[in-house]
Amino acid sequence: MSAIKTGAELLRVEALTKKFGEALILRGIDLSIREREVVAVIGPSGSGKSTLLRCLNALETPTSGRILFRGEPAFGEATSGGFKALPEREINRQRARIGMVFQRFNLFPHLTAIENVIAAPMWVRGLKRRDALAAGEQLLARVGLSDKANMYPAKLSGGQQQRVAIARALAMKPELMLFDEATSALDPELVGEVLAVMHDLARGGMTMVVVTHEMGFARQVANRIMFMDEGLILEEGPPELIFNQPREQRTREFFGKVSK
Ligand code: ADP
Ligand code: MG
Repeated sequence: MSAIKTGAELLRVEALTKKFGEALILRGIDLSIREREVVAVIGPSGSGKSTLLRCLNALETPTSGRILFRGEPAFGEATSGGFKALPEREINRQRARIGMVFQRFNLFPHLTAIENVIAAPMWVRGLKRRDALAAGEQLLARVGLSDKANMYPAKLSGGQQQRVAIARALAMKPELMLFDEATSALDPELVGEVLAVMHDLARGGMTMVVVTHEMGFARQVANRIMFMDEGLILEEGPPELIFNQPREQRTREFFGKVSK
C-alpha cells in the first residue's frame, strides 16, 4: 500500500470513553486517520473494537471525549458534564459521510440488489431514480455483481450479499469506510471475494478503518495496525513492526492465538 500517498487528517479521536452502565468499555481512545490511509484494528473479542467503530458512526454516543471529522466536531461536543450530542438531523448529515459495513449484511430483504443500493441515495440524498440507477449499476459492476442487480438478497450467497452491502455503503459517496468484521460471518470459500473488493477499494484510495481477524489482509493492505485490548489502543504502527516486533506482551499473546 505504500504507493498511495496519504493526505490531510480526516478523522481525529481524543480521549474517547464509553460506558455501558458502570462498565467502562472504551477507556480513553486517541487516534488520527489521514485521507487514503487503511487502518486495521485487531484485538481480542470484547476489547471494544465494535464499540469504537459504532462511536465513529454515531451508532453509540460517547460518554466523554471528542470525535473530529476534518477538524470539526462530528456528532457533538465534549462538555464538562460529558458528551453533548448534536441534533439528530445534523448527526444524520455527518453520518452520510461515513459508510459502514457490518458482519451481518443487513440488506433490506424485500428489495433487490440494485434497489438496496439506490434506496439511500434516493431517500436521503434526493437523487432522481434514473440517476441513482445509473450510479448504482456502476457500483454493482465495481463489486462484480452486474448480473445480480435484480436478485433478492435471499437468492444471493453471503459473499454476494456482503458485496451488495459494500456497494450500498459506497452509494452515499462516503469519505470514510468502516468495516466491522465484514468477512467473519462468511463461509471460508466466500471470504476471498469480499476481501478482494475491500483490497480494490483501498487501492482506489478510499480511507478505511477495518476491524478484522484476517491477519493476512491486515498485513498486506493496511498502512497501519492498531492493537486494541481492554478498551485501549495498546500499540499501533506499520504492519511489519506490529506483526514482527510487537512491543506489548498482550499483543504477542494475541498473535499466539490467531494465525498470522
Ligand atoms: P469487540 O468488538 O472487540 O469484540 P465490543 O465493542 O463488541 O468488543 O464489546 C466490548 C465490551 O462491551 C464487551 O464486554 C461487550 O459485552 C460490551 N458491550 C458492547 N455493547 C454493549 C451494550 N450495548 N450494552 C452493554 N455492554 C455492551
Ligand atoms: Mg466486534
